[in-house]
Amino acid sequence: MNAQAMNEDARRVLESLPADLGAKDRMAIPVTPMPSQEPGVRCHNMHEVALGYGEDQAVLEATRCLQCRNHPCVAMCPVSIDIPRFVGFVAQRRFREALDVIQESSLLPAICGRVCPQENQCQRNCTVGKARGSVDEAVAIGRIERFVADWARKNGIVPLPPIAPDSGKKVAVVGSGPASIAAAADLRREGHDVYMFEALHRTGGVLVYGIPEFRLPKALVESEIEKLRSMGVHIETNYLVGRTRTIRELMEEDGFDAIFIGTGAGLPRFMGIPGENLVGVFSANEYLTRSNLMKAYDEEGSRTPIYRARRVAVFGGGNVAMDASRTALRLGAENVTIIYRRTREEMPARREEVEHAHEEGVEFMMLSQPVEIVGDENGRVSGVVVRSCELGEPDQSGRRRPVEIEGSDHLVPFDCVIVAIGNSSNPLIKMTTPGIEVNGKGNFIVDEETGETSIKGVYAGGDIVLGAATVILAMGQGRKAAAAMNRYLAAR
Ligand code: FAD
Ligand code: SF4
Ligand code: SF4
Repeated sequence: MNAQAMNEDARRVLESLPADLGAKDRMAIPVTPMPSQEPGVRCHNMHEVALGYGEDQAVLEATRCLQCRNHPCVAMCPVSIDIPRFVGFVAQRRFREALDVIQESSLLPAICGRVCPQENQCQRNCTVGKARGSVDEAVAIGRIERFVADWARKNGIVPLPPIAPDSGKKVAVVGSGPASIAAAADLRREGHDVYMFEALHRTGGVLVYGIPEFRLPKALVESEIEKLRSMGVHIETNYLVGRTRTIRELMEEDGFDAIFIGTGAGLPRFMGIPGENLVGVFSANEYLTRSNLMKAYDEEGSRTPIYRARRVAVFGGGNVAMDASRTALRLGAENVTIIYRRTREEMPARREEVEHAHEEGVEFMMLSQPVEIVGDENGRVSGVVVRSCELGEPDQSGRRRPVEIEGSDHLVPFDCVIVAIGNSSNPLIKMTTPGIEVNGKGNFIVDEETGETSIKGVYAGGDIVLGAATVILAMGQGRKAAAAMNRYLAAR
């Protein structure tokens, strides 16, 4: 059924509901499905998979909310959006008011409504989901949030916060991912002169180079960056802090009163197995960056080449592995296989992403551990030696540990390998900033309340502190640090 027909369906359901709707009636309404591109069509294009609710669908879904007095959903949202209030406005078709409520807490609703792992956050403890026996039946808060943000954009509503008079203070924000976007906006609101320095030629961090277009259209990210520009934030790209200027130079020579570091976790990890240097082995970061940032799929418009592959192996079971495998399909691979050492049950990827990958034709080789990548006489990947595993006792994460089965090695032919087993933080700023403290994983150690690092006036947040986490957590950290920085600057 197409999106319009689905919306008309929702209208009919709304019209059939009694005027004095009780909790039982609300709970009886099934979750409103999300219109999306057909799997057979979408695996050949880069357009967004989920098409978004129409007005009647959003209103119907919002009508399912019970407006719980203890609102367990809010406690599970990392930035504590007043969910019952904004959802209540949507149920009354008061979309503008709904937007205002969301924006009290979140700067990036169009993005978070799309990519937040809602089933582990706001929707996890939703009363409706609990009563219906599945988190999949919870009120679809993220979809409603996305609808509100998209509605605002379609109607040309781009609310810019008021900017306080010039404070006379100059602040640097390093990086341009969600942590830095949030920090820059909140610092600029206080009237500080804010400079954002980004190493790449485009701003947005993982939102632009990591998460594929078919999950998060880049135009949305660009419009958030445009908002920052309209607020008066100076944005400099191709500016690698630690090389172009160091943190010390920014503070002592360039006159910055405070610095926020939001440089993320962009250093790919490899398996450390033989064959990782062969031609045709990519980190998921490189593979996704080629496609997302450099538009390698646009063969006529982009100068970045695609590595042509027929059989692609993706190592890992997280969201990055799902993104890489689905991108490989769209770049023309005939067969894409995810190789994962546990089972689907233990996969850290969002269930929706795993289902989407499966629907599009990605294959899953479970309980399998790659132990070697083998190459042909030209040094190109020709296969992966895989060792079978079985599940043992749970490890620290609570997931059952994979135990390799000796003597089970077998060679599977592939001509490309994408390693998607996680990222660490880039050590450049640590290496060039004497006195900045990091933990064993290379993440900055900060004061939990303020985000301040071991250097006075230097704050940090997002993946560089948390390790690879989520967009909304990064945004929340950016906001928390900006609030502390505003206090620090006011007292100077
Ligand atoms: P980043 O987004 O990593 O941004 C850091 C920026 O700093 C980058 O632009 C980088 O170029 C720049 N930088 C680095 N070093 C320097 C320097 N020395 N000088 C100047 N600039 C520098 N999260 C979700 O919530 N949902 C998802 O669906 C999801 N999917 C993901 C898919 C992929 C493929 C990946 C990789 C991550 C995904 N995440 C997802 C995680 C999420 O994107 C990150 O947690 C989030 O982007 C972290 O934000 P950040 O601002 O801390 O850093
Ligand atoms: Fe849910 Fe994320 Fe929105 Fe919070 S920001 S309400 S967790 S979708
Ligand atoms: Fe509505 Fe669910 Fe939150 Fe209750 S828990 S207020 S039903 S979204």
